[in-house]
Amino acid sequence: MKCISCRFATVDKSASDKDWTAYECGNPESEYHKSLINISEDGKKHKRISWSGCEHGERKVKPGATKTINALSPSRLPGVNGSQVLPQAHAGI
Ligand code: SF4
Repeated sequence: MKCISCRFATVDKSASDKDWTAYECGNPESEYHKSLINISEDGKKHKRISWSGCEHGERKVKPGATKTINALSPSRLPGVNGSQVLPQAHAGI
């Protein structure tokens, strides 16, 4: 898992300066916990998170992703009762 896609990558305000936002690993399970993850080995500051990450990373969950799937499913239901499904779904809200 790359740090840039990981939900444990968080802003570290205390390490940031006015031209640069620092990101750190916020996962206590990781050997990189509390390390800055947008800095190179020679100390160069990167705007984007550049680390290749670790095996403890977890993918960020996009907000609304499950809602989209739910919203799509009634119209995708095959068949005869399709016209009844929609009014019932609205009545339940
Ligand atoms: S080091 Fe691992 S746990 Fe930490 S932010 Fe990167 S991928 Fe996530």
